[in-house]
Amino acid sequence: MNFDVTILGAGTGVPLPQRSPAGVLMQIGATPLVFDLGPGTIPRLTAAGASYRDLEFVFLTHLHPDHTLDLVMLLQALNYTPGWTREKPLHLIGCRGTHALYADLVRAYPSIAPRAFEMGVREIGAERIAFADWTIETAPTGHTDASIAYRVEAAGKVAVYTGDAKENSELARLARGADVFICECAFPRGYATDDHMTADAVGRVARAAHVKRVVLNHLYPPALAVDVGAQVREEFSGEILIAVDGMRIEV
Ligand SMILES: [Zn+2]
Ligand SMILES: [Zn+2]
Repeated sequence: MNFDVTILGAGTGVPLPQRSPAGVLMQIGATPLVFDLGPGTIPRLTAAGASYRDLEFVFLTHLHPDHTLDLVMLLQALNYTPGWTREKPLHLIGCRGTHALYADLVRAYPSIAPRAFEMGVREIGAERIAFADWTIETAPTGHTDASIAYRVEAAGKVAVYTGDAKENSELARLARGADVFICECAFPRGYATDDHMTADAVGRVARAAHVKRVVLNHLYPPALAVDVGAQVREEFSGEILIAVDGMRIEV
């Protein structure tokens, strides 16, 4: 069974070419899983060769707009694609607050309430959940009170996506031995932040977790102005990739 990852949005809320707001596709066999739905994620999913029509599971790391705005567009597309009726359920799984966000969005945009399919909304904390061919495990990231990172295990491989994070021991534990570690690298070393990851912190977490490959993701302009890869390299000796929209990686 194939297991690959496509970066749908390598950027943040700051508009940039090549690096759109957050979204990650994990394709496990015929099953597409999407993590975060920043604005533009749904068309970029199409560009990556997957389809919103086949989505049954969407996971949210946290509820900031650069990670969630395309939930509205997904629901609109599922309701209003001419000549097609969505019948399969959609499972929206996310951190604490996901229920309230969904209810608020439906209140603001009543036409996105599912017309012909079931919508399941589930909030999770730090836990491990087994699905048919894959397992997810989560851990808090410290970016917000509720934000979580996801570890996905399938076909004997492991991919971890942090969403937004700050350096903490839970991340290294969650990422243990990961084949692909998609980690926020918001800022370069020395940048003052108390709710994001800097490059040296990414390197320390990747080293502590003994991951095989780290993908530097969620890059703000200051992280793109310097060689963050070299800064990570000072801490971590494995493979280092710098995410760009559309990057596809075999796990
Ligand atoms: Zn973000
Ligand atoms: Zn955020």
